[in-house]
Amino acid sequence: MTATLLDGKKLAETIREEIRLATAKFIAETNVQPSLTVILVGENPASQVYVRNKETACIAAGMKSDVIRLPETTSTDELLELIEKLNSDASVHGILVQLPLPKGIDEKRILDAISPEKDVDAFHPENVGLISQGRPRFLPCTPYGIQELLRRYSIETAGKEVVIVGRSDIVGKPMALLMVQKGAAADATVTVCHSRTRDLSEVTRRADILIVAIGKAEFVTADMVKPGAVVIDVGMNRKEKTVIGDDGQPTVKNKLVGDVDFDAVKEVAGAITPVPGGVGPLTVTMLLLNTLNSARQSASNA
Ligand code: NDP
Repeated sequence: MTATLLDGKKLAETIREEIRLATAKFIAETNVQPSLTVILVGENPASQVYVRNKETACIAAGMKSDVIRLPETTSTDELLELIEKLNSDASVHGILVQLPLPKGIDEKRILDAISPEKDVDAFHPENVGLISQGRPRFLPCTPYGIQELLRRYSIETAGKEVVIVGRSDIVGKPMALLMVQKGAAADATVTVCHSRTRDLSEVTRRADILIVAIGKAEFVTADMVKPGAVVIDVGMNRKEKTVIGDDGQPTVKNKLVGDVDFDAVKEVAGAITPVPGGVGPLTVTMLLLNTLNSARQSASNA
């Protein structure tokens, strides 16, 4: 292996410990416990795992975690009513609606209804606008985690070619917004690619830092990467793999893989995040930090 492994799991542990200490200090000073409420609608198995992870992480950091589980049949109006209640509850600092919502619920109306002051996912148009102007209230968790990874591994970004593959509102677009800002772990020259990009490999090969968020298992191959580039793999895909057991018998296992062909790309890249253990643990970590910061902002306004 030529590439340095960017260990998101280990880094997340370090940052979570910092958050735990900062939370304890905040509680001692204010007598207020930072609190996150997660709303989960329906039975999506992946969402249930994500929500459980968030709950566990919150409690470990010394924060209050509430999970409100609602049936698949919940209407947009019922959800709006709940959000209104949480918006006006001063003891709630962060509100997160786990996506995707079941079909039939108006996702945009729901996300827009969350008070921008409690929008710890940073999806509200007001918060996106503030990020765009370089004066963020909260940073979106996945791009924030990636930026923190670059910062803490001392990866230079100023003047570098950053190519982002994927233009979702959750990852690709906000990632571009962060990297193009003035300042530390930013100041990059940013290109955003998507499914309509012509000659994708030609563009990705220009990248000093290549960030991939498309949701296609092992899509980025070694020939798409410039030798020595930093490769950040956001993808989380389930892939069936045949594994030969100790008894010599093949079994089919469901494996979590990224959007990057890790085994091949690690021979070309200068540094790379693994899947699992790369970007994922940092996403939840930044959610904790946003919740703590929301509680701090609320205390300073009180
Ligand atoms: P979306 O499906 O919302 O967006 C995918 C993007 O990839 C779109 O912009 C799409 O282009 C683009 N795309 C799809 N196929 C291609 C292609 N062949 N060439 C170029 N671009 C392509 O995905 P998300 O951003 O929500 O998620 C992406 C991945 O990241 C998923 O695997 C998801 O599970 C994972 N993820 C991981 C997180 C973590 O914490 N680790 C957090 C969030 C997501 P177009 O717009 O033209 O359709």
